[in-house]
Amino acid sequence: MAKKTHKTAHVLRLIADISDTKKENPIINAEFKDEIILKRNIIREEIIEAPTVKAVEINIISEIVSENLPSIIERFKCCGCEKCIARMTVEALNHFPAQYVFPGENSEEEIDTIKQKYRPAVLSLLVRLALKHKSSPIHK
Ligand SMILES: [Zn+2]
Repeated sequence: MAKKTHKTAHVLRLIADISDTKKENPIINAEFKDEIILKRNIIREEIIEAPTVKAVEINIISEIVSENLPSIIERFKCCGCEKCIARMTVEALNHFPAQYVFPGENSEEEIDTIKQKYRPAVLSLLVRLALKHKSSPIHK
């Protein structure tokens, strides 16, 4: 028991010696600490930013509308001014509930499959909207 106590005391003295050495260079230690804190903050920022990038969602319906509306307007010779495009886009988006995909989580194949599923219905609505706008333009 006595031997053990002696050993512990020796170790304690060694630890005390080490911390004394550290105290001799408080500036270096402070800088070193700052550097570690800085590095940790950078890592933490990266961790926080990663899911934010992942969470950028795309409304598939909105994608289909913006991809196809210009050609439909051209095909049916509708007015393609900003007002008319905006109005038709809003009407189309109001007609379908938003279908969100997450490019960080969904693969391109998955996104494409969802797009293929909604495309016919969205295109058919866009054609109907184009014909409606042609017969009753919102201006002139
Ligand atoms: Zn117009």
